Amino acid sequence: MLSGILRWSTVSNVILIAGTFLTFVFYGQAFVTHPTVWVPILCTAAGWLFGILIHEIGHAVAAIACGWQILAFQVYPVGWHGPSCTLTLLPRSVGKEAGGYVVIVPRSLATGSATRWMTILACGPGASLALAATALIIRETWLRGVDTPGLIASNFGLAIAIQSCVFAAISLIPQGGSDGAHIIAMARRDPEKDAIWPYVWARTMLDFNLRLRDLPGWLLAAQRDLPFPEKEREQYLAGLEIGLALDAEVPDYSRARALIDSHLVHYGASAWLASCDAYLAAIGEGDAEGAARRLWSGEPDRQVMAIQHAAKASVLAVQGDRRGMRAELLRMRKANRADCPYRNATFRDIERRIRAALRPA
Ligand SMILES: [Zn+2]
Repeated sequence: MLSGILRWSTVSNVILIAGTFLTFVFYGQAFVTHPTVWVPILCTAAGWLFGILIHEIGHAVAAIACGWQILAFQVYPVGWHGPSCTLTLLPRSVGKEAGGYVVIVPRSLATGSATRWMTILACGPGASLALAATALIIRETWLRGVDTPGLIASNFGLAIAIQSCVFAAISLIPQGGSDGAHIIAMARRDPEKDAIWPYVWARTMLDFNLRLRDLPGWLLAAQRDLPFPEKEREQYLAGLEIGLALDAEVPDYSRARALIDSHLVHYGASAWLASCDAYLAAIGEGDAEGAARRLWSGEPDRQVMAIQHAAKASVLAVQGDRRGMRAELLRMRKANRADCPYRNATFRDIERRIRAALRPA
């Protein structure tokens, strides 16, 4: 029997290569009068792109029907960001991961059930199979009738059907992060893993630039019941509180000061905490000297580069260093874009506050 990631990935690659070759041949044979290499290559690429789009639409429509929220819908090279309702040209690094991707989270604990999650996963391959069937029906009912000796139009229907079947097959093969692999993992049900889903959803929302203050109440409440060791959970919740105080519509600087000082006493220093501390001292308290002292002096933490640059920019702003502030803000924006290509409303506000705090040199 086939088992193991290596074997399944081999099957997946063989199906993909054979399918691509076959569709290339069918597209090529369609152009009887003017046979070229480039046109069937373009047709094959366009067919894949169309197939990916329909597959992801299948996931997205099922997600909305199941009461889930779409954070991002991307078919490389374009991505749509749900929280900001904006279209973005994706950097190459995103395209390498997957041609298409839908990032979703449930709108409530009840809609976040395993059954709904599996339904959403199955609807991607389902949409691909529906496209294959539609392409074949159109081929038989219409395209065959418009075939000419110079152009065999019905070949397009056949090629799209093959590409869609290939896409459905490789997305169902249980390897890596495929739909099939996720469905099998969900079907096995692991109560320990189920219990950390609220953490994964919150993490996903923040990673995809839904701002902290917009995290739904039910999800914030669920963070208090995460099955983490007590101290780890307390530290995580205390960190969320600091973020919420700083990200509020009107930031609560005095509460943030109390929370940061308490966090430092209980859990020690970190690049993230020192950066929040320095930003607060500079922007919330106008303390240029104190802010400079509070900056993180250890090794930069690659996980939180944007806030480290924001902290430096805020210190430079209250020191009256316009050029230095601008350079750090540029690095902050780059770090944000490297983390997530979509608009980040929190850091947009942070930048606005830092620029407003710029003092004369
Ligand atoms: Zn899929």
